Amino acid sequence: MITAPFDYEAPESLEEAIRMLHENGEDAKLLAGGHSLLPLMKLRLAAPTILVDLRRIPGLHGIQQGNGGWRIGPMTRHADLESTSELGVVARAASLVADQQVRNRGTIGGSLAHGDPASDLPTVLLAVDGEVTARGPGGERTIAAGDLFQDYLTTALAHYEVITEIRLPDVSTYGFGYQKFARRAEDWAMVGVCALVSRAPDGTCEDVRIGLTQMGSTPLRATATEETLRGSTLDDAAIAGAAEHAADGTDPPGDLNATPDYKRHLARVLTRRALEEAVSV
Ligand SMILES: Cc1cc2nc3c(=O)[nH]c(=O)nc-3n(C[C@H](O)[C@H](O)[C@H](O)COP(=O)(O)OP(=O)(O)OC[C@H]3O[C@@H](n4cnc5c(N)ncnc54)[C@H](O)[C@@H]3O)c2cc1C
Repeated sequence: MITAPFDYEAPESLEEAIRMLHENGEDAKLLAGGHSLLPLMKLRLAAPTILVDLRRIPGLHGIQQGNGGWRIGPMTRHADLESTSELGVVARAASLVADQQVRNRGTIGGSLAHGDPASDLPTVLLAVDGEVTARGPGGERTIAAGDLFQDYLTTALAHYEVITEIRLPDVSTYGFGYQKFARRAEDWAMVGVCALVSRAPDGTCEDVRIGLTQMGSTPLRATATEETLRGSTLDDAAIAGAAEHAADGTDPPGDLNATPDYKRHLARVLTRRALEEAVSV
């Protein structure tokens, strides 16, 4: 449980951090809250030779509202998201990440860059159709959530790119629900479901977005359920019928906690509950 030896740098500018990443190639890793990277290093599943800590770089923290959405700095901690209730489902999901100690250190940028399909915030970013800005030596680019998560612990980010901002559209007209099933309250999700629903003036479903946690090698959208529900009534029967499609097209891996079949069952049940929660607010 002791890491391999590594050098530690804490640059004071983004340019310096990017230069360090670029010069040291895949041997260099960014450090944010350390709550995903350090456990991997202790297990010797990762052995970077240099850690580039982001904590002294100005401008990477904070939550701002404007221009029809939210701009969040990558070093913003889960605890800060949790206490900003105006963020709706983001605040709700952040409040369900692990325990207070993890939420006090872990950051949204680290969670998205790590690309763990068991994490809660990647699913929410995918469900709200958010995006990240990434900066590297050649400049800045925007990556939509649907393109960011590519495979298990694999994102579209190059090793020398830093997430500098997370942008979320305004979804305040949507009702939302986030349901997470775990063996103990503070555990990782066995399966998690994020649901957003907006109503047309006649009460039918105008739009619906559903994100799934732990149902594949990346966070997923439950597109069959979304398509079934869009334009339909939002009564209990319609929701229950649509939720039956939540696992369609998924291929969740079994693990110590749940078989693939059990995860598919959980996805259906939790989707129904998340939708019921979303239409009740
Ligand atoms: C006991 C425990 C329980 C947990 N339970 C949950 C849970 O239930 N749900 C959940 O969602 N998460 C859970 N986590 C993970 C936690 O949310 C982490 O904080 C988060 O996944 C990573 O954030 P971090 O700031 O700690 O990142 P770090 O560990 O510092 O970094 C993670 C990865 O992201 C890279 N990185 C960091 N910042 C950037 C950036 N700005 N740009 C590009 N790359 C970057 C790093 O190089 C590294 O590869 C748990 C962690 C622990 C230790």
